[in-house]
Amino acid sequence: MLISLIIPCYNEEQALPFLYQALCELRSGLTGTGKSFEFIFVNDGSSDRTKDVIKEYAKSDSDVRYVFFSRNFGKEAAMYAGLEASKGDYVAILDADMQDPPSLIPEMIRALDNDECDIVAARRVTRKGEPKIRSFFARRFYKLINRMIEVEIADGARDFRLMRRVVVDAILQLSERQRFSKGIFAWVGFRTKWVEHVNVERVAGETKWSFWKLFKYAIDGIIAFTTAPLRLATIAGFASALAAFGYMVYYFIRAVILKIYNDVPGYPSLLCFILFIGGLILMALGVLGEYIGRTYIEVKGRPIYIKAEDENSLRSSRDT
Ligand code: UDP
Ligand code: MG
Repeated sequence: MLISLIIPCYNEEQALPFLYQALCELRSGLTGTGKSFEFIFVNDGSSDRTKDVIKEYAKSDSDVRYVFFSRNFGKEAAMYAGLEASKGDYVAILDADMQDPPSLIPEMIRALDNDECDIVAARRVTRKGEPKIRSFFARRFYKLINRMIEVEIADGARDFRLMRRVVVDAILQLSERQRFSKGIFAWVGFRTKWVEHVNVERVAGETKWSFWKLFKYAIDGIIAFTTAPLRLATIAGFASALAAFGYMVYYFIRAVILKIYNDVPGYPSLLCFILFIGGLILMALGVLGEYIGRTYIEVKGRPIYIKAEDENSLRSSRDT
């Protein structure tokens, strides 16, 4: 039985040696159990020596495979490329920085072997070691998105998971360009078992996610999985129209029935209303624009990533 481990790497030359060693230990710990491994490193256009490090491993270790991107396409694209390249019966995705502890993998394999589930996914029970502000916004985000979408995304869920082939094939069918894997994993369904672990800090290097990048990712996530913001715009428009109508009736009664006309002041309130309505209209247009923009990008149908090289070039040049 073949197990594929996919590792998205972006500027990870410092972390990779730790990870590779852990993977080798994992492999030797499972020899004789009929399990073989392939390690698929996806280099997401790193600007450091990540590529060379991976090639070194591939030269001496036939279980190492790789995909190099022509530029940085993002972790989502890297995961997709890895899943596409994988041939294993079980497939796992793990970060290069050891924040997804490879030591959990044997337990995950056992769970799939015993047919307890189709996906074993890791979940952090703490966010210790993460900037407070990031944890705060992350929690809010999960609350918000789970209220808006039909499937449930677990707070603290990572991309770290071991899946059966059927699950991988299902995920590959969702070939959208603006990928939000946490949503995609939840959307495809199947039986999921959670294994919990405490937050581990990265062994070396630094996080590739700035606050801004995470914020954009959060918006992408919401827009990719729900049209609720559009409905919100409709509701806001409806509510303000209703309020305006009420206001109209009020003035009508004042003027026609109570005969009060001495109402020259009121310029400020008028201005407020115009600004408020104008703001609502712009907001609704903005929300609409977000969806139309994304539709435009999807419609272009560009590939999710561009491959510059894979392990075949190394192996075939050696054979000849
Ligand atoms: N990563 C990637 N492409 C990117 C950003 C990140 O392939 O554009 C990889 C990175 O090399 C790592 C994983 O995604 O293996 C998670 O990144 P990181 O550890 O920086 O994120 P954090 O753990 O801080 O959420
Ligand atoms: Mg990390």
